[in-house]
Amino acid sequence: MDGYLDRYLADIPDRVWHEYLWSHDRHCHRIEPELREQSAQAAAWIGISASRRIIAGHSAVSIKNLIEAAGCRIEKVPDDPLKQLRPYLFAEFEEPDRITVYEERVSKVQQFLEKERLGVFNNSSAEEIILAHEFFHFLDYEGKLTDGISRIRITAFGKLKLHVRASALAEIAAMAFARDLLALNVHPCILDLILVHNGSFS
Ligand SMILES: [Zn+2]
Repeated sequence: MDGYLDRYLADIPDRVWHEYLWSHDRHCHRIEPELREQSAQAAAWIGISASRRIIAGHSAVSIKNLIEAAGCRIEKVPDDPLKQLRPYLFAEFEEPDRITVYEERVSKVQQFLEKERLGVFNNSSAEEIILAHEFFHFLDYEGKLTDGISRIRITAFGKLKLHVRASALAEIAAMAFARDLLALNVHPCILDLILVHNGSFS
């Protein structure tokens, strides 16, 4: 890992990405920043723990094989049919057992990784990172390895105090899972950044 961009990306602290993921959650503005970060750290740890348990049982197996062996299907389609509504989605997990990958977006980011020769992803392809993220959602849905995520409940402040299950926490856990499983040197949210900037940082 030596280029300027590698160092720049690796220096962005996790809490920045946690807040980025929180910003897409409808509960975000009702939860105090300190509580957002505390719960994000708890969620990230659940993702890391799930990854460690998988690594312990299956070293050197490709992410695609892991997913298929777990009974989940991977489908690849050119683009998201709802792309006007959600321009930055790479893939999604659909219950009970399907991961759909939007190939045009993934390959756009992959081309950028290759052009810039980024080392921060530890030779993982954009597709592997995205698959690892979605695999966590599958495991979470099945209730395997991820017990605990549904127990993180946070109190949102407003006129009423209410306990919510925030979607941001599942995203944070899935990102931490992918990062740990593939031994990435940076937060996987960087793929979003690359897609948003369309491969142009200048
Ligand atoms: Zn996700």
